[in-house]
Amino acid sequence: MEFETNAIHIGDEPERTLHGDVVSPIHLSTTFAKIGIDDIEKGYVYTRTSNPTRDNLERKLASLEGAGYSLAFSSGSSAQTTFLLAMLKKGDHIVAFDDLYGGTKRIFHEVLGNFGIEVSYVDATKVNEIESALRENTTLVWIESPTNPLMKMADISTIAKICKKKCVKLLVDNTFMSPFYQRPIELGADVVLYSTTKYMCGHSDSLGGALMTNDEKIYKKLAFYQNAIGAVLSPFDSWLVMRGLKTLGLRMERHDKNALEVARWLENHPKVRRVLYPGLKSHPQHSLAVRQMDGFGGMLSFEMEGTLDEARKFVESLEVFALAESLGGVEGLIEIPSLMTHSSVPAKDMKDIPETLIRVSVGIENIKDIIEDMERAFNSFCSIAKLR
Ligand SMILES: *Cc1c(COP(=O)(O)O)cnc(C)c1O
Repeated sequence: MEFETNAIHIGDEPERTLHGDVVSPIHLSTTFAKIGIDDIEKGYVYTRTSNPTRDNLERKLASLEGAGYSLAFSSGSSAQTTFLLAMLKKGDHIVAFDDLYGGTKRIFHEVLGNFGIEVSYVDATKVNEIESALRENTTLVWIESPTNPLMKMADISTIAKICKKKCVKLLVDNTFMSPFYQRPIELGADVVLYSTTKYMCGHSDSLGGALMTNDEKIYKKLAFYQNAIGAVLSPFDSWLVMRGLKTLGLRMERHDKNALEVARWLENHPKVRRVLYPGLKSHPQHSLAVRQMDGFGGMLSFEMEGTLDEARKFVESLEVFALAESLGGVEGLIEIPSLMTHSSVPAKDMKDIPETLIRVSVGIENIKDIIEDMERAFNSFCSIAKLR
């Protein structure tokens, strides 16, 4: 079946429940009773190891990704940490995109800092930079595409080919696009990672993460570590993500449509210096975006003319957008990376991120209200500027 059909039906099959529930129930039980000692290994045993609701979610996720295996975690960060602990050993080397989610770099350095793991950061927009950073002890390449907040893109299938040749595993953090618009496993990645907190759940009300792969050996290792470490997604959160996934396709289409309109409108606005959105022809990697993704998603950044103080006034004047970190919810979210999500990034790594860069997670509200909100906010800060 196709994406939208699987999103609704896989994991919610009425014939798998006792009463024919059209929506599969939430199994809160942490332990499962057996008829006799001979049955103790059969079916569900203990919820950390596996749980019927989490299983339903994992089946739905795998069907959407076109992956053989899927595992759900208590956050995107715990999925990352579990993956790294399972896959790496002392002395291993990682090659990573320099423009990565800040929390990922924090895990690399502050959580794995004492484990003897080395990381090299490269500009993965240039495939040859990845190739020349690979060493004898490189076991993993870690990329996002598009990145946050600069919306830089990596050519996943070309990078996957290089990794295969060198027997290096490739992980793609696909949180920004969701499988509706980009499926890295089809492009050759070994493992795909999500913060389901973002588009997958889509309603800013559940923290979660997921790992998916087609490789049985990797899956078995990850499942062992998932159970041993125990950072699993709760049954209730699993159910919330399942509910969110049913409208993933619809939501992404609207995020994409709204974001393109906002990007085009901003690009022509006198108070805007430049707009970063893969769907704009002005994006330096627009042709890769068209080739690699089925849509451009709901995330964009733009650099405002003027001072940081004016950028602050702008985001504080908005009414439809919430001034908040995170992304991927039905509601519009806006933030200033230099003051918020990226405020703890060392100055030397911020040289490409201008102070007045504003990151927008475009919501699925009516586009008229979104643009009017921005226009009103621009005018309010302009009049403040004039008063001064
Ligand atoms: C949010 C996010 C994460 C971390 O996920 P949590 O659910 O917040 O732990 C990882 N990668 C990307 C790209 C993210 O946006």
